[in-house]
Amino acid sequence: MSDRILFWHRRDLRISDNVGLAAARSRSPQVTGVFCLDPHILNRDDIAPARVAYMMGCLAELQQRYAAAGSDLLMLKTDPVSGIPALATAIGATAVYWNRGVEPYSRERDTAVAAALKENGIELKTTFWDQLLQAPGTVLTKSDDTPYTVYSPFWKNWISQAKTAPVAALEAAEGLSSERQAQAQAAGAIALPTAKDLGFVWDAPLLLEPGEAAARDQLTQFCEDDRQIAAYGEQRNFPFVEGTSRLSAALKFGAIGIRTVWEAADLAYGRCRSDETHQQVQTWQQELAWREFYQHVMYYFPELAAGPYRQQLKDFPWVNNKAHFQAWCAGQTGYPIVDAAMRQLNETGWMHNRCRMIVASFLTKDLIINWQWGEKYFMQKLVDGDLSANNGGWQWSASSGMDPKPLRIFNPASQAQKFDPDAEYIRQWLPEIRHLDTAELVTGKIPPEACDRVQYARPIVEHKKQQAIFKEKYQAQKARTPA
Ligand SMILES: Cc1cc2nc3c(=O)[nH]c(=O)nc-3n(C[C@H](O)[C@H](O)[C@H](O)COP(=O)(O)OP(=O)(O)OC[C@H]3O[C@@H](n4cnc5c(N)ncnc54)[C@H](O)[C@@H]3O)c2cc1C
Repeated sequence: MSDRILFWHRRDLRISDNVGLAAARSRSPQVTGVFCLDPHILNRDDIAPARVAYMMGCLAELQQRYAAAGSDLLMLKTDPVSGIPALATAIGATAVYWNRGVEPYSRERDTAVAAALKENGIELKTTFWDQLLQAPGTVLTKSDDTPYTVYSPFWKNWISQAKTAPVAALEAAEGLSSERQAQAQAAGAIALPTAKDLGFVWDAPLLLEPGEAAARDQLTQFCEDDRQIAAYGEQRNFPFVEGTSRLSAALKFGAIGIRTVWEAADLAYGRCRSDETHQQVQTWQQELAWREFYQHVMYYFPELAAGPYRQQLKDFPWVNNKAHFQAWCAGQTGYPIVDAAMRQLNETGWMHNRCRMIVASFLTKDLIINWQWGEKYFMQKLVDGDLSANNGGWQWSASSGMDPKPLRIFNPASQAQKFDPDAEYIRQWLPEIRHLDTAELVTGKIPPEACDRVQYARPIVEHKKQQAIFKEKYQAQKARTPA
C-alpha cells in the first residue's frame, strides 16, 4: 500500500506545473490537498477585499480540479501550526509536502509547523522552490558568493542560467474514504467559504478571472499576440493602453506556474524576427526578473519588510499630514494623473505600473509622507498585493531601498505629458473633469473656478516648493547619517 501525502497549498493555487505537488504525486497516487485560511493573515489590517475575492475564486477552481483528478482539496480555517498536523493525522498521512516561501512570516510559520509535524512523527518535504525560476542561493555575486543588492548584475547572472521546464500536472490521484473524510471534518476541515463569508466584500469585476484556466488563457493571449508581448517595451508605459500582461494576481497566488510563463515568453522570443522585437520580449522577461530580485532580497534581508534599507531614510523627518494622506487615498489631490491612478486602484484593485511609480513618488516626495503609509494602503487595495514586490516598489520610489540612484523625484505634469499625452487615462478615471482641455488636464493647471464648479480638488501642495523641501530634508539627513 502506498503512503497518503497531504499537500499544503499556499501561493501555488494550481495543479499544473507545481513542483512540490508533482513530487508528491510521483511518490504516491494518494495525494490530498489542503489550504489553510490563516487567521494571522486574514485578521491583519492590510488585506484587500479584491485580493481575497481573487484567492477564494482560485480555491473554488482548485477544488474542482482536485475532484476531477479523483481526489480532494480540504479547507481549514485555523492556525496552521496546530491545524496541519491534526489534519495530517486524521487522514492517516505519513508525509506533508509544501513549496517554500520567502516572506518572514511564512518562514517563521513553516518552521513552527515543521516542528509540530516532527513531534507527531510525520515526515515532511519542503525543499521545493516553486514560485521562482531561480531559487535563493543560485544567483549570488561571482566575487564572494553573497546575495546581490543591485538589480542589473542580478539580471545578468539570472538570465545566464538555464531555466527549468514546466512539471507534470496532477491528473489522477486517489481520494479519501468516507471514513477519512469524516475524520478530516472532525479535525477542522470545512466547506469552502466565499470572500463575503470571511467578511471581505468585493462587488466590482476582477481584473482577471480567478483560477488556472483564466491565467493560462491570459498568458496565451499575451504571448501569442504580436500586439502584446512583441510590443511590450513600447506599450508598457502608457496607462491608457492594455499593454501589459495583467498576470500579477495570478503570479502572486500561483494560479499559473512561473516555468509555464517563462516557456511561453521564450517561445515568443524565438518567434521574433528582428532585434527590436527580441528587445521588446526581453523587456518583459526583465520584469519577471524584477519579481525574482525582490523575492531574493526579501529572503536574504527580511528586515526590509519592517523599514527602509538605507540608513538615511531611517528616522526621516516626514511631514505625515493626515488630511493630505486622505486626499491621496481618495484621489483628491488636485493633480489629475495622481488622482486618476488612485481612483483606478480604488475602483478596480489594480493600478498600472507607471502610475504606481507616479503616485508613490507624489506621496513621498511631494506630500513628504512616510512611504510605509502608502505601502500599507496599496496592500489594503491591490488584487496583486505582494510583500516583496510592493515593498520593493515603495522603497525604490521613496529612495530608501537598494537602488543605486537614490534621489528620484517624478514631476507629475511631465509624467502625464509623456505617458498620457492626450489625457485619455485621466479622462477615464476623472469623469468630473473630462470636459476640460487636454493641456489643462496633463499639466494640472486647471483654473481654480473650474475645479470648484465640478467639485474637483484644487492642488493641495505645490510640486516645486515641496520638491525643494524634500531635497533639503534629504540632504540634511544624509549629512547626519552614514550611507
Ligand atoms: C510602488 C509599487 C508597488 C508595487 N506593488 C506590487 C505588488 O504589490 N504586487 C506586484 O505583483 N507588483 C507590484 N508592483 C510592480 C508592478 O507595478 C506590477 O507587477 C505590475 O503593474 C502588474 O501588472 P502586469 O501583471 O500587467 O505586469 P507586466 O508588466 O505584464 O509584468 C509581468 C509580471 O512581472 C512582475 N513585475 C512586473 N514589474 C515588476 C516590478 N517592478 N517589481 C516586481 N515584479 C514586477 C509581475 O509579477 C507582473 O505580473 C509595484 C510597483 C510599484 C512601483
